[in-house]
Amino acid sequence: MRITFLGTGTSHGVPMIGCDCATCRSTDPRDARLRPSIVVESHGTTILVDAGPDLRMQALRHGIRHVDAILFTHGHADHILGLDDVRRFNATMKGDMPCYGDAVTLEDIRRTFHYVFNPATPKGGGIPALDLIPIDAPIRVGHIGVQPVRLWHGQRPILGYRFGAFAYLTDCNRIDESAWPLLSGLDVLVLDALRMRPHPTHFSLDEAVAAAARIGAGRTFFTHMCHDLPHEATNARLPPGMALAYDGLVLDIA
Ligand SMILES: [Zn+2]
Ligand SMILES: [Zn+2]
Ligand SMILES: [Zn+2]
Repeated sequence: MRITFLGTGTSHGVPMIGCDCATCRSTDPRDARLRPSIVVESHGTTILVDAGPDLRMQALRHGIRHVDAILFTHGHADHILGLDDVRRFNATMKGDMPCYGDAVTLEDIRRTFHYVFNPATPKGGGIPALDLIPIDAPIRVGHIGVQPVRLWHGQRPILGYRFGAFAYLTDCNRIDESAWPLLSGLDVLVLDALRMRPHPTHFSLDEAVAAAARIGAGRTFFTHMCHDLPHEATNARLPPGMALAYDGLVLDIA
């Protein structure tokens, strides 16, 4: 199974509009972060996790022309606003796009993209064809088994996903009690770590390190970072086996 990080930044992206800080002006390509998303591939099956506003650029950069399904973690703008670009996958795949998420997320998508689900909207090539499918138990997409994992993003329940020995837990500051048993025996964990200072809906770096230590994956990569966390300097202070992810990072997992 191959994981590619399409974006590892917080909702603003890094660099952030109108900011002159050292991270935003950095020439290290690992400090340039698009909005958060990954692609999971195995034996010809391709799953996209979230479809943020940078989806078009991410798909072009990584040559993604085939997506079998999209898994949504939640309905915030930085995770769904690329849905219009699914029109291209509808064309290359000649079919509707299966979109999985919890009931709240699918409702957020229906409301945000009202024109897509309004039968009065003229079809043409103008709207993405989306098949919204609620998920609350393990599913299979082609060759890939998917285990939804309940997380808390402040007061909002959202989903992380486990694929075999890999788990992707973005946008959270608490792991639900029901989820801990589902996170044992991981080779690779990806976990939200927004910044150093505490935040009401995201793990700080210290909180993320503590949660990652408790989960005990072989390797942990952090994502959804803002400009407060420069790549090189932050990595230097992390425990062994933990590092910041970066856009374009590829992981092969047995
Ligand atoms: Zn900045
Ligand atoms: Zn969010
Ligand atoms: Zn987010």
